Amino acid sequence: MKKGFIYFFAFVCICFILPAVLTQGITTSSKAEKHEEKNEEENVESEYVYNKYGTIKLLHADTNQVEEVAMDTYLCHVVSAEMPVDFEKEALKAQAIVARTYTIYKINNKKHDNADICDDSNCCQAWISKEDRLARWDGDKEAKWNKIEECVKETNGKMITYNNQPINAFFHSNSGGKTELPVDVWGGGSNMPYLQVVETSGEDGYTQYNSEVELTKEEILEKLKTKYADIQIDFNNNEDIKILEYTSSGRVKTIKFGNHEISGTEARSIFGLRSTNFEISKEEEKIKFTVKGYGHGVGMSQTGADSMAKSGSTAEDIIKHFYVGVEIKDVNSL
Ligand SMILES: [Zn+2]
Repeated sequence: MKKGFIYFFAFVCICFILPAVLTQGITTSSKAEKHEEKNEEENVESEYVYNKYGTIKLLHADTNQVEEVAMDTYLCHVVSAEMPVDFEKEALKAQAIVARTYTIYKINNKKHDNADICDDSNCCQAWISKEDRLARWDGDKEAKWNKIEECVKETNGKMITYNNQPINAFFHSNSGGKTELPVDVWGGGSNMPYLQVVETSGEDGYTQYNSEVELTKEEILEKLKTKYADIQIDFNNNEDIKILEYTSSGRVKTIKFGNHEISGTEARSIFGLRSTNFEISKEEEKIKFTVKGYGHGVGMSQTGADSMAKSGSTAEDIIKHFYVGVEIKDVNSL
C-alpha cells in the first residue's frame, strides 16, 4: 500500500508538478530575455543621461502651449527643420551639436517667462513636428527621419564651449565663401571672439550661392521711401548709387542712395536681398543686385558644413573651422 502511494506520488510528479516547474522556468527565462531586449532598446534611447538640461520646456508660438520634451527628441525636430536631410551625416551631426549648444545657451539666457525656448525661427530656433516634416519630404520618409535621429544620437551630450561656457552658436545657410563678424551685422559681439571671418571652399556648388534681384528705378525709390521719406536719387549720376565701404569679409558695409548713406544690412532688408555680399549694376531702366551667399554670414555655414563633410571632414572638424578656438565638451562636464 505504502509502495503504491510512492508510485502514485511519482506519477503525479511526472505528470503535473515537473512540467509545471519546467514551464515556469521557460516562462521566466523568456520574460528575462524580453526584459533584456527592452533594456537594450531603452539604452539606445538613453545612452547619455543629462544631469541637467535633459528636459526642456518648449513654447509652441502658434498655440501658446508649453510642452516638456526630452532634449535629444527636441533636437531631432530642430535639426530636421534647420538643415536639408540629404546633407552629409557629419554636417547634420554638426548641426545637432550647434542646436544643442544654442538650446543650452537659451536655457541660461531665457527670453520667455514660462519656457526655455520657442519654436519660432525668428525668435529662438526652428522646430517642426514629425507629422509635418514627413508630409513635406518625398521618397522614403521614415528612412530620412531615422537618419536625423541617428545623427542626433551620435552626438548625445556634446556641446560647443569657449572658456568652458556654451557659445552663442550662430549659423546661416551659405557664407558666399567667407563668414562675417557679428559687429558688422548687429554692431556687437566683441564678447564672442570665436566668431571670426573664416573661408570655406565649395559653397559655390549650392543653389544658395548665387542670386539676383532686379528692380526698376521706381521700385528702388518706393522701397527706400518706406524708411527715408525724403529720398532723392539722380539715376543719371553714377556717384548717386555707390558702395562706399566694405566689411573685413568683403560684404557691403555702407552704400549711398542719393541723399542717404545706409548700411549693407539695411539695404539687404529693404530690397529683400539674400545677403549683404552684393554688387550693383545699372542696366537701362533697372538696377541689378548680384548677390553671393544666403543669410547673415555669422558662424557656421550649413552648405559650407556639407561641402566640408563631402571632403571628409568630421562634425568636430566642421565646428572647429567655423567657431575659432572652441572645444567640444560633454554637457555633464560643465
Ligand atoms: Zn523665442
